[in-house]
Amino acid sequence: MLKAVLLDISGVLSEDGEALPGAVEAVARLQSSGLALRFLTNTSRKTSAAVRDELQRLGFAPAPEQVFTAPGAIRRYLERSGLRPYLLIHERLEPEFAGLPCEKPNAVVLGDAEQRLDYAHLDEAFQLLLEGAPLLAVGTNRYFRQSGTLHLDAGPFVRALEYAAGIEAKVLGKPASDFFHAVLDDIGVAPGEALMVGDDVECDVIAAMELGLQACLIRSGKYCGGMRRGRRRHAARRAWPSWSIRCWRRARRGCHLSNSTCSRYDSNVSQRGSYRSVIFMAMKT
Ligand SMILES: [Mg+2]
Repeated sequence: MLKAVLLDISGVLSEDGEALPGAVEAVARLQSSGLALRFLTNTSRKTSAAVRDELQRLGFAPAPEQVFTAPGAIRRYLERSGLRPYLLIHERLEPEFAGLPCEKPNAVVLGDAEQRLDYAHLDEAFQLLLEGAPLLAVGTNRYFRQSGTLHLDAGPFVRALEYAAGIEAKVLGKPASDFFHAVLDDIGVAPGEALMVGDDVECDVIAAMELGLQACLIRSGKYCGGMRRGRRRHAARRAWPSWSIRCWRRARRGCHLSNSTCSRYDSNVSQRGSYRSVIFMAMKT
């Protein structure tokens, strides 16, 4: 029995600051269905508060406790561990870490810092890693989609520092199991009782399936561009045979959504061309 739905935000509910067609209505129906909903994101160019504000502006109306961000998870980890971070993050994310002691840093926090991801800053982080500081990453996403094109995300820079320093980053957003478990624990459901909906085949879908969640790949956001070539295409092909539209229909019944609501969501997005095809449902077999 499905009890909870975890929704990725970027590329699933919104893109470039606009709600995707049909998404607001579908989320409203989910909110009223009695299912527990949580909104998840690895975005590291906005604070948790800014993410909540944008969802509100777009009409999704989440309660504050329904939004889980990777930067928020990193802040909680730093506080629990008593670490002083060297923040290699986007300037708009700085308020997320306000009030934390940052002098004589003993941890490196790496996010999508955009222009700050230059040699000088990366080398400064590298020096700290050599001294034993842990590398805390928002995620390992390879890229994100903005204004119709794909752009480098934090993942490639995480891998570069790991390679240089011979260490392994602690990832605190998706696809880390700790992130998913924190959300499930907050709701109070088992992995098999939750559905993850995302547009990233690796960080959303495969990561969730490996933890025992059901998962749904939405063909919007980064999905289209990411399927053109390379490992993601291979990963998706590898995963698809175990997915079944029948599972999607079964989950729909389980979450008490009417067929008309789901069909309307599908057809709306298809008609307007924001999604290239229907929603695929995945279930671990
Ligand atoms: Mg996404």
